[in-house]
Amino acid sequence: MSESTSALDSAQLHTELDTIFDEVIDQLTDLVAIPSVAWPSFDPANVRTSAEAVAGLARDLGLDVEILTAAQEDGSEGYPAIVASVPAPAGAPTVLLYAHHDVQPPGKAEAWNSEPFVATRTGERLYGRGAADDKAGIMVHLTALRLLAGRLGVGVTLFIEGEEEAGSPSFRNFLETYQDKLAADVIVVADSGNWAAGTPALTTSLRGMCAIEFEISTLDHAVHSGMYGGIVPDAMLAMTRVLSTLHDEDGSVAVSGLKSQTSSDIDYEEATIRADSGVLESTSLIGSGSLASRLWTQPSITVIGLDIPEVDVSSNTLQSSLRAKLSIRLAPGDTPANAVEAVEKHLRENLPFGATLTIGDTEGGSPWQADLDDPVVQTAERALTEAWGQESVTMGIGGSIPFIADLLEVFPQASILVTGVEDPDARAHSANESLYLPDFKAAIVAEALLLQKLAAS
Ligand SMILES: [Zn+2]
Repeated sequence: MSESTSALDSAQLHTELDTIFDEVIDQLTDLVAIPSVAWPSFDPANVRTSAEAVAGLARDLGLDVEILTAAQEDGSEGYPAIVASVPAPAGAPTVLLYAHHDVQPPGKAEAWNSEPFVATRTGERLYGRGAADDKAGIMVHLTALRLLAGRLGVGVTLFIEGEEEAGSPSFRNFLETYQDKLAADVIVVADSGNWAAGTPALTTSLRGMCAIEFEISTLDHAVHSGMYGGIVPDAMLAMTRVLSTLHDEDGSVAVSGLKSQTSSDIDYEEATIRADSGVLESTSLIGSGSLASRLWTQPSITVIGLDIPEVDVSSNTLQSSLRAKLSIRLAPGDTPANAVEAVEKHLRENLPFGATLTIGDTEGGSPWQADLDDPVVQTAERALTEAWGQESVTMGIGGSIPFIADLLEVFPQASILVTGVEDPDARAHSANESLYLPDFKAAIVAEALLLQKLAAS
């Protein structure tokens, strides 16, 4: 692969970026000022306003811009996305650049040190809701395109979703409805992060997830604990017994049939995990294997709901039945269907006292693993390394981005690159979310380098 002579190197791109960076921050500040929360209880007008703002920035770059929606599963209209395109020169690939313009709600105002929707610069960080997740992702795409204006050697489709933080309810339908507009050889999802401030990373695996609701019954109605306690097993006893079988002594998942893998060439420091998570000093960590593998490539199970009488209103009663909800994180290589089956089998096999089990609603999103031998993945790693001047690493994410699986299903031929601007201190979704500006600059340069390299390949 030889890059064309008009291609700019990392240093030249950094210099060009420095001359326009104040403007880029102003544009990001304008986007942060729009409280574009796509949750049903928030005003949808703000999401339309942010769609229009992003569309305006894309139009300023000379892109052909549309604001589009698709129906959600219940038939109601989804939130507006921006699709803007530059056609590919003959023989060149088309690259889809994804980010989202909706944000998480700000949460409690007291928890913020600045106004959540007023981008506030302190030192090397820009604070504000969406300053990192994911309005900075939008600005990475737009600014990389701006740096390459007049010398863009690939086709580009900009796709800025408007409902990611609300679970992307119309996403799958959107992909299918506009499949022709969105078709691409390479998909860049700028909605993740880097290994550390100053250390770039390509995200190459994501855990999947599934949730299972179930009910355990031992009686056909609740009875007095004095009349029957000690003879008749209550549903709480059966429930706590069966829940306690989900994990080993050390807290590792004890359900057989769930997939697990080992990773990786990098690992977390225990002190970092302890500090970031807020785990109490006396509390030990759970699981076994490297800390990275526990988060990225092993399953986890958490009881996230239990319908029981609250302590303040509890009475001397044997509960007849109880509902619980489990949240299960899946290792790459597993599937939600396999996990639901494995967990249901485990619950049935470990149910004490002949209690009955009824499985209720289940939901799931698939895990994902990048193909590390894909030349596009290797090109992206080179672009990151050059832009940061620091070797790029591959990392996993313990969380899920379920729409990655949708992208793969609708565009099975595309190479998917998961990049982003966040660092471990970015606090996406929390109070005092912030963007680390040196990494933001490097992410813009890396994307410009990537597009140039793809043009030359
Ligand atoms: Zn995001």
